[in-house]
Amino acid sequence: MLSPRRGVHSIPIYHPPLAGRQGLRLDFNENTVGPSPRVLARIQQLTMDDLARYPERQPVEAMLAKYLGVSESDLLLTNGVDEAIHLLCQTYLQAGDEAIVVVPTYSMYRIYMSATGAEVASLPAGKDFRFPADIVRDRVTDRTRLIAIANPNNPTGTLTPLKEIEDIARGAPATAILVDEAYFEFCGKTFLPSARGYPNVFIARTFSKAYGLAGLRMGVLIGDGDQMASLRRICSPYNVNAIALACLPEALVDQSYIERYVRETQESRGRMEVALQSRGIQFWPSHANFVLARIGSTKLDAQAFVERMRRRGILVRDRSTDYGCEGCVRFTLGPEEHTNRMLKALREVLEELAIAQGVAH
Ligand code: PMP
Repeated sequence: MLSPRRGVHSIPIYHPPLAGRQGLRLDFNENTVGPSPRVLARIQQLTMDDLARYPERQPVEAMLAKYLGVSESDLLLTNGVDEAIHLLCQTYLQAGDEAIVVVPTYSMYRIYMSATGAEVASLPAGKDFRFPADIVRDRVTDRTRLIAIANPNNPTGTLTPLKEIEDIARGAPATAILVDEAYFEFCGKTFLPSARGYPNVFIARTFSKAYGLAGLRMGVLIGDGDQMASLRRICSPYNVNAIALACLPEALVDQSYIERYVRETQESRGRMEVALQSRGIQFWPSHANFVLARIGSTKLDAQAFVERMRRRGILVRDRSTDYGCEGCVRFTLGPEEHTNRMLKALREVLEELAIAQGVAH
């Protein structure tokens, strides 16, 4: 009987958005409004010929490289950051190697790392989910080939100081370090200007979050040109589709749209943090477009809360099975009107469940 490669069945399963997500989508950290209207206008202009041709990544990469101030050879457009993670794992990891993540974090790191046959060391985050840079540094051996750092981190929203990432990169020159800046726009802190000094560091950005293009699947990986040449060897020449490539220039040019969305989301984040604080609910100050909060003390509390929010038309994410996240729920934030609806439902559900008491810290 046909069976998959050894180890495939022990890879954890990622739970993507469920079919029929009816309601306000505050569960997967997407932009809750959508991309710049210029993007839709561009899609409406596409021709039969645009769809019939294989996509050409290079001209769009040239434009994005210019925008980011990096050289074209240092940059690769990917099918979302997920593909960038996959390519890094395929390029640097094999059975016998070790990769490091600090949990809780984005679950796809572990999935793609394990798929190569490498061992994954899941190191626990420190107090208040701080990145334990010293512990990570001490853990690195000759076998350590990849370290993934989400910055800001998902689901905690915490930010690791760039200096700590530099220390790790300097101390482990033969280890690939992924600095995943999927939520960069919401905090404005980036490793990019420092990256030149570290040929083992890769920076990932996505167009799924602030840019509102999660459905088009587009991300970018930036790294040392020689290393990027190795990644390109195993990357499909057509990994990013023609519609996504046609839309990216329109999305990029409309920076005022992004700025406004980011500003509104940051304001919402502040309002949410005040609301949680005033109810004595533990949360972690976030640098991204979401906030993690300890809504109750058990998985059942979190599940009951998420279900009652859903009945009010608000989708939020149960994170209670993540390391250190017992009873926690993650709320994606968007503009004011969406936050008003979410806060109203939050108030009603908490009153109904009366689970906020006793979890104050
Ligand atoms: N990295 C992090 C930290 C994320 O939270 C996510 C999305 N949840 C991704 C990468 C994936 O992004 P993309 O849609 O570009 O594949």
